[in-house]
Amino acid sequence: MERLNHRITLARRPSGVLTDDCFEVDDVAVRELDDSEVLIENAWLSIDPTIRTWIAHDTYLPAIEIGAPIRCFGLGTVVESRNDRYSVGATVQGLVGWQQFAVARSGLQVMPDGVQPEAALSIFGITGLTAYFGLLDVGRPEAGETVLVSGAAGATGSIVGQIARIKGCRVVGIAGSDEKCAWLTDALDFDAAINYKTQSVGKAIAEACPDGVDVFFDNVGGDILEAAIGNLALHGRIVLCGAISQYNDAVPGPGPRNLPMLISKRGRMQGFIIMDYMRQAKEAIDELSQWVAAGELVFNVDVVDGLDNAPGALNRLFTGANTGKMMVRL
Ligand code: NDP
Repeated sequence: MERLNHRITLARRPSGVLTDDCFEVDDVAVRELDDSEVLIENAWLSIDPTIRTWIAHDTYLPAIEIGAPIRCFGLGTVVESRNDRYSVGATVQGLVGWQQFAVARSGLQVMPDGVQPEAALSIFGITGLTAYFGLLDVGRPEAGETVLVSGAAGATGSIVGQIARIKGCRVVGIAGSDEKCAWLTDALDFDAAINYKTQSVGKAIAEACPDGVDVFFDNVGGDILEAAIGNLALHGRIVLCGAISQYNDAVPGPGPRNLPMLISKRGRMQGFIIMDYMRQAKEAIDELSQWVAAGELVFNVDVVDGLDNAPGALNRLFTGANTGKMMVRL
């Protein structure tokens, strides 16, 4: 039976915000499998800010090629297999792309029965693991310390803040609306929240963190990073997780102007990529599961239906319209 693959491919590299003409939609015949390959029918796509960087240039992965499907993590069912490790009918997670069918031969994780796709792609997927290892292994907060999180009402930031709270830290979040700030303090029990769109961020951090910031978990970069550096406590640590404020910039912004403060504060700033932690995923998933089961950790998902809506879903991350981990259900 010939299968047609509905795809969204990269038509051109963007300058600034992604527009419809960056993408092309087509239907192509699915090719025959080679030895060791499997054919996956995609069911769920994870929509991550990093896709915007993969579209633009080489990062920790090569840039997506013009004409290729947009790269993304996702979840699907193996429908044909020439690989003993992945049997027909298995649910697998991996880099599947914005398309109905994906061909792969390795790098797939077989999902245990009964795992909800929404949870697999958020709290127990890249998002939860990023929050867990970024905070605990890179930031290393101690009970009683102050943890500041940017993008705090987002998928990753909201998990980071809750883990910091579970670990006995004082937690302050930065987010882009009063509603999001109220959710952080009222529902997630953050100690304080700052609306970066209406408040002077540096001053607000100083007020909310009178003893300085011991760990800053940064999802945003730019001015917010600069404001956090300005309030770093002695021996403070900065976890560079993401810089979403800059992903749409055609020309890189000036960045923090106060990096020498890291010297006087004996501070440390470190980037990380979650892929380096995948071998330790089980340890994180076990602990995250316990916190979720105990009601100590909650996670939100924001689901959009239909592959053709993937570009719009990606852009929601840059306006702050998303209310949780962004994903597309096919
Ligand atoms: P989120 O669910 O946090 O969505 C993105 C949020 O970013 C938006 O809701 C918006 O919230 C905020 N935002 C968008 N533009 C700006 C801006 N100009 N200034 C300030 N805030 C902005 O997405 P994720 O949790 O998936 O990703 C969060 C970060 O984590 C990203 O930077 C991503 O690249 C990074 N990441 C890094 C990984 C790694 O391995 N290092 C792995 C996974 C993610 P608001 O309304 O508050 O503005």
